[in-house]
Parts: sequence; structure tokens; C-alpha cells
Amino acid sequence: MKLNYKSLGLRVGLEFHQMLDTREKLFCNCPPNLMPADADADYLFKRRLRPTTSELGEVDPAALFEFKRGRVYEYHHFDNASCLVEMDEEPPHDLNYEALRIVLTVALMLNSQPVDEVYVMRKTVIDGSNTTGFQRTALVALGGSMEVDGKKIPIQTICLEEDAARKVSEDATKVTYRLDRLGVPLIEIATAPVISSPEEAEKVALKIGQLLRLTKKVKRGIGTIRQDINISIKGGAKIEIKGVQKLGLIRKVVEYEVLRQYNLLNIRDMLRERGVVKEHLKRDFVDVTDIFEGTKCRVIRRALKKGGCVLAVKLSRFKGILGYEIQPGRRFATELADRARFWGGVGGIFHSDELPAYGISEEEVRKVSERLNLGEKDAFVLIADERSKVIEALNAVIDRCIEALEGVPEETRGPNPDGTTHYSRPRPGAARMYPETDIRPRRITEEFLNEIKRQLPEPLDVKLQKFVKDYGLSKNLAEQMISSYYLDSFERLVEKYPNVPPRVIAATFENTLKSLRREGVPVDELEDEVFDSLFSLLNEGEIVKEAIPKIIEYLARNPSKTVLEAVEELNLKALERDELEKIVTEVFEEKKEAIMKLRERALGMLMGEVMRRVSGRADGSLVNQVIRERLRVFLSRYDD
Ligand SMILES: [Zn+2]
Repeated sequence: MKLNYKSLGLRVGLEFHQMLDTREKLFCNCPPNLMPADADADYLFKRRLRPTTSELGEVDPAALFEFKRGRVYEYHHFDNASCLVEMDEEPPHDLNYEALRIVLTVALMLNSQPVDEVYVMRKTVIDGSNTTGFQRTALVALGGSMEVDGKKIPIQTICLEEDAARKVSEDATKVTYRLDRLGVPLIEIATAPVISSPEEAEKVALKIGQLLRLTKKVKRGIGTIRQDINISIKGGAKIEIKGVQKLGLIRKVVEYEVLRQYNLLNIRDMLRERGVVKEHLKRDFVDVTDIFEGTKCRVIRRALKKGGCVLAVKLSRFKGILGYEIQPGRRFATELADRARFWGGVGGIFHSDELPAYGISEEEVRKVSERLNLGEKDAFVLIADERSKVIEALNAVIDRCIEALEGVPEETRGPNPDGTTHYSRPRPGAARMYPETDIRPRRITEEFLNEIKRQLPEPLDVKLQKFVKDYGLSKNLAEQMISSYYLDSFERLVEKYPNVPPRVIAATFENTLKSLRREGVPVDELEDEVFDSLFSLLNEGEIVKEAIPKIIEYLARNPSKTVLEAVEELNLKALERDELEKIVTEVFEEKKEAIMKLRERALGMLMGEVMRRVSGRADGSLVNQVIRERLRVFLSRYDD
């Protein structure tokens, strides 16, 4: 379905988070490096978090809920990636000057106004991802703007903050985090909510990413960027989707969230038309365990075996609504299931719009319907698990159904890999910030700003011109390279390997990688070093440019191999001139008659034949040159 975003009143704001590439973390001297996935922790410790009341005396309901769950938080410390500061056993050090300088550089590039003094604040977090129970953040600049396709996108704030710990696992009793990422400096750039289409959201994100890369001081690769996206439509609600890690997913996330809000408004209207009011949604949870004593449904059998029960609740006049699709593959009932999982910790729910199915028989459905006194337009939800959990879950289901009468409930959501989203928590209340008293405020002096101004990165238009004039890129390729993820690699490699034409490097990043990616080759996992040794070999004449796609494909599929091993394995070492000459001689021998017949027109045929034999081991223009020369000699001799 194609929606008209303008008439829906779509408003999107982005919060762009990017890890900075500093020597040390934000508040201690640890290197901001992530440990490999299989690294063993040097030390483990456990904590329990307590909800604190805000200055207004309010307790965040989600914080309270987390506390009631009584989960233990386990932290993995690594000697070379975390210290006493991350463990909250030592006060934080002063704000990292290098990180502040990078953020100010970006602020000036966006014409944002730096604050006079940087104050570090504490922002409450409730999920245990900070050992302190709060995240440290500092406002660095206000205002400014950027332009995307001629439209001005105002910037609201630019902040410097510490990253949270990485969650590695989670179950009902314990959440495990690694401390290596905690304290890594992040820049946060928040745009005004003026973005009006999914495409524009993606373009704004790409542009911010490009601008950040110009500083050459940001980390790259999966997990180094994270977007929070605020999305609302007229009559809907401001929904925050937190933690989108791929820029390519932004467009889908926005598209699907609009669709979700649009469909939830449809559902609201349908319910209103049916005359459903809050009072119809009763919390009469009916025990139907006996009906399922001999059930073939595995989920229910497992729950009963563990001493659980099956409770059902009638949803008056909800027939058809539960199965109503609101995002691809996600129905209204999926929203209920999300809530049941979050608040009740139950695995899954069953609803009448989808039954009989999952081993639940028609007979069982009929009996439940009878027990609930189900009318023709009514629906039901049933859940099997521990009784107390089921009751929490069914209450959450009823709450969500009541919210459906109003349209779109305010909440925080998380992205799924396909761009749809799931419920992650209720929208946090305001007043979550308070001053960090352990860290001294830092003045931003005129002198410091002037020094940064003198060293601002080359502006994009100057760079573009240089790429065309000095590097010999076509205008098209130069434009692609300017907005490329690989821009800084490109510039570095051009400097480092003078024998390699810049357009070969640019084409590798912009054409070769793109076409391999389209074929499903996992090229995005390739490390910088791969390109470094690839172009080093090309620089030395050890390989020819024709070999590049094959080597890259091989390494993407065999990440443990080196470039040299790939060259060896694929037999792609560049031919010596005499080896090439020998192959050309062979071809001329074999094709003698054809050449005599075709004369000059034999060139194409000979090129094809020789290139096939030297595939990826000789430069095309050299082969062409050798064949032309040979053909001239051959024909003149024949004419004699
Ligand atoms: Zn540290």
C-alpha cells in the first residue's frame, strides 16, 4: 500500500549516535576498543539495581517494574578495556578533551552554537546497561542546520555522551553485560522533527554520516552508529524507535511505523464504529485449564507439565481485529503478545482469530468460546504459563486493548531486522536528568574554538573538485565517493599507493563492492587491512586490477584468509611480460587462418581469447597493446 506521507502529516526527527575514534574513553584512560566476541572476561561481578525517585518524587514505572522482576546484572570486565571507573568503584576522570574537540568540530561544520561551559549530566537508565544506573551526557552545542536536497534541516542539539555496556545475554533471572563498550565516547546529533518522508530520513542520516566521516575521527563498521528515530503522524503518537544500527534500515523503519500508526488509527475507528468502550473490556480471567488437559498443543502441554494453568479472557467485539495486519507479518495480536511478554514474561499468546491452529483443536476452541460466553463478534486471548505470570500478561493485554480505543499508545520501540518494530518499554517520563557532581564543568574558550576553526576539514565542494581535477575521477564517481562509507579509506589509500590510479580505488569501493553486495557476497564484513594489502600488491605490480573482484569475493567468503593466500589460491599473480607474450604466441598459432581471413578485424576475437586465458592475471590495456603490436607485425609479414 502506498501512503501519502504529506496528507498523513508525517514528522520524523533523528537522533544520530556515532562512536568517536579517540585514544581513550570519555571519563577514564581505557582504550575505547571492543573485545572480540569470543574473548573471556578477566573478572565477573554482579549487581542489583534499585529504582531511584526523580527530583519530583516520581518513580519511573518501567524502572519499578525492572526492580520488581528482581533480575541480577552480571558484568564482564576486561583488564585492557575497562577499569575501576567502568565498575563504578572510582570516580570518573575529567571529560576527554580529544572527544570534546571532535564534537566541537562537527558543531562548527553544522553552524551550531557551542555552549560557554560544558556540564556533564546524569540520565537515569533502568536496564542495567550502566553500572552507575545512569548515563553521562553533556550538551556541547545548540542550533545549526544542514541542507538535504535543497531543504533546510535544523539541528536541535549536539551532545557528547558515554556509550552503555553491551548486553550479551538475558533471561528471566539474569542479564549479562560486557564493560568494554561502557564509556566509549559518542556524539549525538538531534535534528528537528521536520523530516517528512522515509526517503528524506535516510538522506538526512546519510548526510550526517558523511559529515562525521569528514572529521576522520569516527569509528566505522557495524555497531559504531545507532539511530533513535522519532516518528509521528496526525492523530497518532510520537513513537521513539531506539537503536537502529544500519542506515539502510531507516527508510523501512519509518515506512513501517507510519503503516503501523495508520492501521492502529483504522482499528480505533473500527472499534468506535462497533461501539466498543473501555467498560466492555473486563478483566474476567477464566480458568480453562481443564479444557486443555489432553491437548495436542505443545506450548500448552509444556506449561501444564510445569504446573502452570491456562487462562482466557473475552475481548468484546474484537473479532477480526486481532488478526488485522498492521505491519508486514505483524498483526494487532502481535502488539498484545509483545506486552504480554514484557509485563508477564510469558512466551506467547493464542487468540481466536488464528485458531484452530498450533495443535489447538476446533473442539477446544468451541469449549473455550462456550465457557467465555462468546458472542458472534467477540474474540478471546488465552495464555498458558505460571498463574501469576498469566495474570500479569492478561492485564497487559487488556491495557493494550483499551489503548487501542484511543489509537496509538506512546511507547518506545526497538527495530527488528526487517524494519518492523517491537514494543520495548513505556515512554519514559520527563525529568530524568540531574547534574553529575563528580566532574568539573569545562569552559569552551574563544581561543580553543579558533584553534578548531583553523583546522576544520576540507569542505565537500572543495573535495569534490579535487577528486575530479587531481584524481581524474568522473564527476559521477567523484560524487559517489564523496558520500561513500569508504571516503576516508579512499583518501588514505590514494596517498599511500601512488602507482594505483585513484579511479581504480574509487571504482573498487563504489562499483565492485556494490555489485558483489547485490549478488549476496558479504563484503561489508571486510576489514580495512584487506583493502590495504590489496592495493599494496597492485601498487607493486604483483596483481592486476582485473583480479580485484575475484580476490574480494574470495576473502568475503573466506574471512580467515589473507590477500596473499587468496592470490595464491585463485592463481592470480600477475604474469610476467614474457609469460604474456608466450600466451599471445600460442593464440596466434592456433588462430592463424582466422587472422589471415579477418585481418585487422581479428583484434576483438584475439583480445577475447587471450583475456580468457590470462583471466585476472594481466592488465587489459597491456594485453591490448601486445596483441595490436603482434597483429601489425603478423599482417605485414603475411603481406610480404
Ligand atoms: Zn576505564
